[in-house]
Amino acid sequence: MQLRYNYRVYPTPDQQEALARAFGCARVVFNDGLRLRQSAHEGGLAYVSDGELSKRVITEAKKTPERQWLGEVSAVVLQQAIADLNTAYRNFFSSLSGRRKGRKVAPPRFRSRKDNRQAIRFTANARFKVLDNGRLRLPKIGDLAVRWSRPLPAEPTSVTIIKDAAGRYFASFVVAAPDQPLPPAASEVGIDLGLTHFAVLSNGTKIAAPKFLRRAADKLRRLQQDLSRKQRGSANRTKAVVKVAKAHARVAYTRRDWQHKLSTTIIRDNQAVYVEDLCVVGLGRTRLAKSVHDAGWSQFVGMLQYKAARAGRTFGKIDRFAPTSRTCSACGRLDGPKPLNVRSWTCPCGAAHDRDINAAKNILAAGRAESLNACGAQVRPAPLPAPRREAGIHPGAACSTRSVEGISRP
Ligand SMILES: [Zn+2]
Repeated sequence: MQLRYNYRVYPTPDQQEALARAFGCARVVFNDGLRLRQSAHEGGLAYVSDGELSKRVITEAKKTPERQWLGEVSAVVLQQAIADLNTAYRNFFSSLSGRRKGRKVAPPRFRSRKDNRQAIRFTANARFKVLDNGRLRLPKIGDLAVRWSRPLPAEPTSVTIIKDAAGRYFASFVVAAPDQPLPPAASEVGIDLGLTHFAVLSNGTKIAAPKFLRRAADKLRRLQQDLSRKQRGSANRTKAVVKVAKAHARVAYTRRDWQHKLSTTIIRDNQAVYVEDLCVVGLGRTRLAKSVHDAGWSQFVGMLQYKAARAGRTFGKIDRFAPTSRTCSACGRLDGPKPLNVRSWTCPCGAAHDRDINAAKNILAAGRAESLNACGAQVRPAPLPAPRREAGIHPGAACSTRSVEGISRP
């Protein structure tokens, strides 16, 4: 399974300069390619093929005085920038034609040096290397110091170097991680993801988002208010932007860490895990948006999914239109509508229900039924949980709060 491993890196001032140059070159090549395709389109010409594009904006451009400096950075970095553009176009086209499900994908946009996040990617043929002394060797950049918070489980196939809005640098490796089967567990669990609690389990456990996370989120909100009062273009505003970015990064990191621990425990303790297939993007447009985004469910569901696959556990998503909150989990009777303020109710059969635990029980039952229906095989085979496509630098790779979807589509 392809997984991402992220580490903080600390480039020297010289290396920062070399990285800035590489970010710039990748951006220029990306924008040149986009401009070329746009003008071909406006001129009524055919779509410029991937091969043709790479030839014109990289190989031939390097021979011109205006773009000669592209030769100063690794050619792979430039090719990967074009690969990103190609992926962006493919996603846009398949979204237009309806082949791609979910939120509509916008056409590719020009990159700016003012973007909050700069990134370049090296693939294996760029000959990047993790050295014996723990440094990361990047062609035409140098040997970078890395804080190895955990070991890489295997040889990485690519590495993306990211600079975030807070001015920090990260290396994000794509690694083919081996499966890690766990000994069988006796229990199975349904999970209801909610707004009053982060998650409620069918065994009655209610998990609230931890206090430290809420405190950090409150602080972030205050900093954002400070920022909104600063004059545009002022030095104080620039300082406030960095403060917000740092607080944001801290919240995202803390939340991810907490979700990792929680998902690991749930997968370890249960042989099968079922969740409701939330339409998070849809919910994100309603006034529940703020709390939904803060809760980061998609990221959590993505973790459950890939950890289940690695551990050999069953993972299933239940149809999001299943009436899990108004069906009695004891007798199966479909009761009247249950608005969000109805926290508990009693079924005519006599069963008293906590709204969320009842929903979690129904999710478990529906998940089991789907598994049985398929005689052991899954009804809807879960998409292969490669966390993010190798081609295509996602804006959320380092700062996950921006990516609401979390799990990528294959
Ligand atoms: Zn009942």
